[in-house]
Amino acid sequence: MDCLFCKIIAGEIPSNKLYEDELCYAFYDIAPMAPVHFLVVPKQHFASAAEVNGENAAVIGHIYAVIAKLTKELGISSFRVVNNCGPDAGQTVFHIHFHVLAGKTLGGFA
Ligand code: 5GP
Ligand code: ZN
Repeated sequence: MDCLFCKIIAGEIPSNKLYEDELCYAFYDIAPMAPVHFLVVPKQHFASAAEVNGENAAVIGHIYAVIAKLTKELGISSFRVVNNCGPDAGQTVFHIHFHVLAGKTLGGFA
């Protein structure tokens, strides 16, 4: 599978890892858009939120639980979770991932 995030999860490409368990992997974004900017990805490869189904939906809830745990540990009370789905929404890596942004006042978006 020629997937950047699968290679990061496998350790074939280095990353600044924040957390890992049997289901997901969290690491800091290489081009941060906020003072805190990390990504959480399922270890199972699927491309985007458009591919969530009965087989893989549980990992999304797990990822939100991990985000709640990690932000607490980092002392973050306000944060934004972003999931870009599809190229017109800004998705550039087609392994589903959740951006977690914090550490400044985040402006509105549309
Ligand atoms: P997307 O635009 O698909 O929602 O988000 C992809 C994110 O992956 C971007 O924020 C980008 O900076 C990040 N990214 C791309 N390549 C790498 C990499 O090799 N390492 C890390 N840590 N982040 C990456
Ligand atoms: Zn992948």
